[in-house]
Amino acid sequence: MKVYQNAALVTVNDHFDVFMEGTLAVEGEKIIYAGPKKEFPGAETVDLTGHVILPGFVNGHIHMPMVFFRGYADDMCLQDWLDKRIFPKESNHTEATQYHGAQLATAELTRTGTTTVNDMYCDGFQTGRALKEAGLSGIVSTCLIEVKGDHEEMLDNALRLNEYYQDDPDIRTAIAPHAEYTNSPEFLTRLGDIAVRTGQPIHIHCSETVKEHEECIGRHGLTPVQLFDRLGMTRVPLFLAHCVYVTDEDMDIIRTRGASVLHNPCSNLKLGSGVARIPLMLEKGLKIATSTDGCASNNTLDMWEEMRFSALIHKGVNRDATAVSAKQALYLATRGAAEALGYTDRGALVPGMRADFIVSSLQEPAMQIPTDITNLVVYSGSSRDIVMTVAKGEVLYDHGVYTKLDTAAIYEACRADFRKYFMD
Ligand SMILES: [Zn+2]
Repeated sequence: MKVYQNAALVTVNDHFDVFMEGTLAVEGEKIIYAGPKKEFPGAETVDLTGHVILPGFVNGHIHMPMVFFRGYADDMCLQDWLDKRIFPKESNHTEATQYHGAQLATAELTRTGTTTVNDMYCDGFQTGRALKEAGLSGIVSTCLIEVKGDHEEMLDNALRLNEYYQDDPDIRTAIAPHAEYTNSPEFLTRLGDIAVRTGQPIHIHCSETVKEHEECIGRHGLTPVQLFDRLGMTRVPLFLAHCVYVTDEDMDIIRTRGASVLHNPCSNLKLGSGVARIPLMLEKGLKIATSTDGCASNNTLDMWEEMRFSALIHKGVNRDATAVSAKQALYLATRGAAEALGYTDRGALVPGMRADFIVSSLQEPAMQIPTDITNLVVYSGSSRDIVMTVAKGEVLYDHGVYTKLDTAAIYEACRADFRKYFMD
């Protein structure tokens, strides 16, 4: 047993309890106590006076190996970004580059406090491998893009991926068609059937830009959400990335079918896509996961920053300072995100849940004086204050030291890959 003493605990439990001088006790992979200070005689103890413990972040939508394209396609609209820069470069990826890129992403995720992700990329085996080695967990998938012409081969990869991780305690899989505009209704219907047969969720981009949304209506007379529903894709949990242009009626379909919205505030801002109507979605009771998207459109994988943006932009857009409170923003980046992805065993400091948590310093000028610790964390805090990341009870990062990753080797491998495969 390991006991973390004297830290402020922001639990994100059912009552959103905060304990200013709390105790978090971990036995193996699980939390066994999270509450006011309590002694556990004889247990290994870590004194965390002057620190706050938060649940590990859950990143709802990410493309891990896109780290190679950070800063490569800045200040471009989505369609040019994708067609002129990203898709051509991505065709140069090898298994090794995807693996190294995913490794680099795990280093950034670990450093910035994310312990669970929902990834979509070319070869889910490489992201799954990197996540396992880093001690992180999540959902991996092989992205299916019919217009590229390699979709049968990629579908075969996706089916093998599902079999490979069938009994894995840390990695789940999803069926991941890229979007409506890159796949035919016939293929999407087939993927819906496969998802039902294999018991997998579907992960897809949806109504990210006004162009995408309106062209779908032009092609099919239906919005992307209506189309996905019509094609049978809502028979399984459907993870919808972006949802910037979903209609009120779409939101009702999303709610009644139990689908989830993956909210990417920074990526939507950077690509000029717009701002999803999160306050209305919250009012309607939709499941929402805050997400970074790939770091070529962000340009970080920092969920703390994403959480802060999610608490700020909706206030500005709606001219309503009460829109998306700090508590809601924290919930959507932790427990709410976990629930949106089908996880009930993480996202909060609650006995019985996985011991996925982060420790952040309060000994910073910006963190004085803690009147409301949750508000302080969301509006004034930063992932740079994180001193420790723990997943399944295992310390992955401790005061600048990674316990499972050789970051110097990872940086070098990525630089070599970049020179060989991605340099213009
Ligand atoms: Zn995306």
